[in-house]
Amino acid sequence: MERYREIGLKLTPQRLAILEYLDGNTSHPSAEDIYSCVKKKFPTMSFATVYNTLETLRKRGQILELTIDPDRKRYDPNIHPHNHLICLRCKTIVDVDLDFEIPIPDEARKSFDVLGNHIEFYGICDKCKKGGE
Ligand code: ZN
Ligand code: MN
Repeated sequence: MERYREIGLKLTPQRLAILEYLDGNTSHPSAEDIYSCVKKKFPTMSFATVYNTLETLRKRGQILELTIDPDRKRYDPNIHPHNHLICLRCKTIVDVDLDFEIPIPDEARKSFDVLGNHIEFYGICDKCKKGGE
């Protein structure tokens, strides 16, 4: 929690609950997911509080915003470079902790400093495969 104080985030009990929910969370929750969980503890909390806190964290580089799910933005407290795999049916997102060496054409390199990449894989997860359709 020290690191949040250092970035000048005022730590209200509500915000603490959001940070606790995110800490070590690998489910890539949406703002709605976070809201419905934290609301159980703080029934008066508004969705805007959750959303604004997430935006503040994102702007300060403390969480990643993933746009891999076209239905809703998802958040990732793991800010180290990694890739993702999404199930097209249930929208589960899992981490792919592998580096892929993808060559960038020399032509593009001349005019652009490439600082990173993010690879999105699409598929059907085991659960959905077994559930069948
Ligand atoms: Zn699935
Ligand atoms: Mn991730």
